[in-house]
Amino acid sequence: MQPIQPAIPGEYLQEDEKNLVARIQARKKELGRQLLILGHHYQQEAVFQCADMVGDSLKLARQAAEAREARYIVFCGVHFMAESADILTDAERAVFLPHLEAGCPMADMATVDEVATAWQELAGVCDVEQVVPVTYVNSSAAIKAFVGERGGSVCTSSNAERVLAWALARGERLFFFPDEHLGRNSAKALGIKDDEIVLWQRGRPLGGNSPGQIAKAKVLLWDGYCEIHMEFDAEQIGQWRQREPDIQVIIHPESNYGAVSAADQYGSTEAIIAAVQNSKPGSVWAIGTEVNLVNRLRDQHPDKTIHLLAPTSCCCTTMALVTPASLLWLLDNLAQGNLVNRITVAPEIAKGAKLALDRMLEI
Ligand code: SF4
Repeated sequence: MQPIQPAIPGEYLQEDEKNLVARIQARKKELGRQLLILGHHYQQEAVFQCADMVGDSLKLARQAAEAREARYIVFCGVHFMAESADILTDAERAVFLPHLEAGCPMADMATVDEVATAWQELAGVCDVEQVVPVTYVNSSAAIKAFVGERGGSVCTSSNAERVLAWALARGERLFFFPDEHLGRNSAKALGIKDDEIVLWQRGRPLGGNSPGQIAKAKVLLWDGYCEIHMEFDAEQIGQWRQREPDIQVIIHPESNYGAVSAADQYGSTEAIIAAVQNSKPGSVWAIGTEVNLVNRLRDQHPDKTIHLLAPTSCCCTTMALVTPASLLWLLDNLAQGNLVNRITVAPEIAKGAKLALDRMLEI
């Protein structure tokens, strides 16, 4: 069930952004080292500027785990990221999300009940001991635990191919949750043929497949997707190439296979940032990822021309629920000893999820 965000008083919602940021900075000073604010690359600029550390979801969860002085870790990101931080930190540290309804719609496309039902159905047509589950880090702690308890691993967008290769070496097939596209792009990069990749469609018996198709499959893909990255396609890439013949196109692998194969490069948010940073002055880029990150790269690299691959693409609307107003409201509460919006993962779930996270770190 989606947690409900307590009402944020009007004095925060009506306050000017500049004043909100100034008040956040004052609270940070007051709370000192007991507070650590983590900011995901997709956050709006005013929130991003307030973060002590910035990065992608896994980098930030690791930084949370290494934070020894901070008692309060405020994750300016979405729900699964705060859960991962809670799993990786010790009991002395408490993790908070500035807005409880900031979830990841893609992560919500695979609930643990749906996955358990699919697994049971699969057991009716093949040996599930030979199926290795893999989940993208963008998934609930409960899914990570389900995967961890069955010998599987978490992966990120930067190590998905390596984790898929590991899974295929351990079993006859793998079941990938929840992002169809990261799974397909990684499987195709490993040379898996189209007829060995099947889509598991939620709500359909055997995911819409025949027992024969399952028997032939090496890779089963849950049919989740990221609405933001689904806005990019190969046609847009063709149009940019016509307009700007020297353009380099880089795209996130949550995008569809057609777009990823038409791009010059694909990679995680950290890989996209590094590619732009390491390019020569005067380079021209079209980037297929969330608009806040692309706008920030444009501001940071005035010597390069940077376009958003789909100019009308919107921001991640759930990430956008974290605003200077919700961040300040949370910090004001923490300063008064009110531990609102704390994200905790039940110990039995955290244990299974940690198995899957640790397995990824070993791979
Ligand atoms: S950008 Fe996509 S994958 Fe990332 S948090 Fe938003 S909906 Fe989820």
